[in-house]
Amino acid sequence: MKVFVTGGAGYIGSHTLVQLLAAGHEVCVFDNFANSSPVALDRVRQLTNRDMGLVQADIRDADALCDAVTTFAPDAVVHFAGLKAVGESSDLPLLYYQTNVSGTMNLLAAMDAAGCTRIVFSSSATVYGEAHYLPFDEDHPIAPTNPYGRTKAMAEGIIGDWAKATSDASAVLLRYFNPVGAHESGRIGEDPQGIPNNLMPYVAQVAVGRRASLQIFGDDYDTRDGTGERDYIHVVDLAAAHLAAIECAASTSGCEAVNVGTGQGVTVRELVAAYERASGRPIATNVVARRSGDVASSYAATTKAARLLNWRAAFNIDDMCATSWRWQSTNVDGYGAGETQ
Ligand code: NAD
Ligand code: UDP
Repeated sequence: MKVFVTGGAGYIGSHTLVQLLAAGHEVCVFDNFANSSPVALDRVRQLTNRDMGLVQADIRDADALCDAVTTFAPDAVVHFAGLKAVGESSDLPLLYYQTNVSGTMNLLAAMDAAGCTRIVFSSSATVYGEAHYLPFDEDHPIAPTNPYGRTKAMAEGIIGDWAKATSDASAVLLRYFNPVGAHESGRIGEDPQGIPNNLMPYVAQVAVGRRASLQIFGDDYDTRDGTGERDYIHVVDLAAAHLAAIECAASTSGCEAVNVGTGQGVTVRELVAAYERASGRPIATNVVARRSGDVASSYAATTKAARLLNWRAAFNIDDMCATSWRWQSTNVDGYGAGETQ
């Protein structure tokens, strides 16, 4: 199959490319490297011994996107490109709406021009907002609490309307829970710019000595040990879910939202303990106030993914920490300042 991958150089995109190429698909990546490095694509080439097409451009540039899609003429599109920092989305809401919402509309218009009717979209569990009940299933009300989440909810709605209006269209909206970990080789992984916002990359940087101590945002939640509980999903499992979703889109029509998680909650303290086991290093922590907007617990109902995609997570938190540590300890500064190796 010919698969057009926006944001393919990013964290989740690069892991998905490995599996797409290994499965024999022909791939074209569209990325402006706003939050990624071309080195990640070089590493993917090395890992798979396969090449891919690359268009370096911005999804807000409708003409460039339309040219790229019509030239490649894909059978399916996987849409990762977007901005994802919750805090930044409150400071720069228009940038987030332009990139995540207008960018998605540009992509659908380009697909129309190319006659492509299948899309897999990177959505997020953040569209659910506050939990009315747990685990979150796909029928849970959609009520995001920040601009980033609203861009994802809007893009989901737009893709749903497009799918209804387009004959034979098929869209899978993958609602990721908390993607972590790295490829087992340790050659590709998550490379956040600046101070990591998310727990696992922060813990990794403490373990490797780049940061002194992890601040635990509150230990008075109603959870097993008082710290926040999340559903961490191995990025390699997540990549496999994309391949399953492409297959699903190829054989169905309509628009389906599907959770991608393990269904298991892990607390901050449990994750720190797992990382200490994986790295063999102590992780210094200090408890500070709760982070504004955080919820106590979030985890997925996974039955729809099993039924519709025939997919379930294979890896546990120890696998996630072990591969994260392999990546972090062998790439202390991530992909570095653009060197190719
Ligand atoms: P990432 O930042 O590593 O990857 C996003 C990619 O999109 C990067 O390569 C970036 O350069 C590219 N990009 C950004 N803006 C662009 C633009 N205007 N034009 C072209 N390319 C652009 O992020 P990720 O963690 O791999 O996330 C991928 C997708 O999954 C995003 O849409 C994100 O919102 C979603 N998601 C991520 C998480 C997570 O925790 N990582 C959770 C839920 C959903
Ligand atoms: N967290 C923390 N310290 C950090 C970053 C995160 O204690 O430096 C906690 C956070 O309060 C939450 C959990 O770790 O309970 C996961 O946070 P993350 O930002 O990774 O995911 P999200 O909250 O967006 O699901």
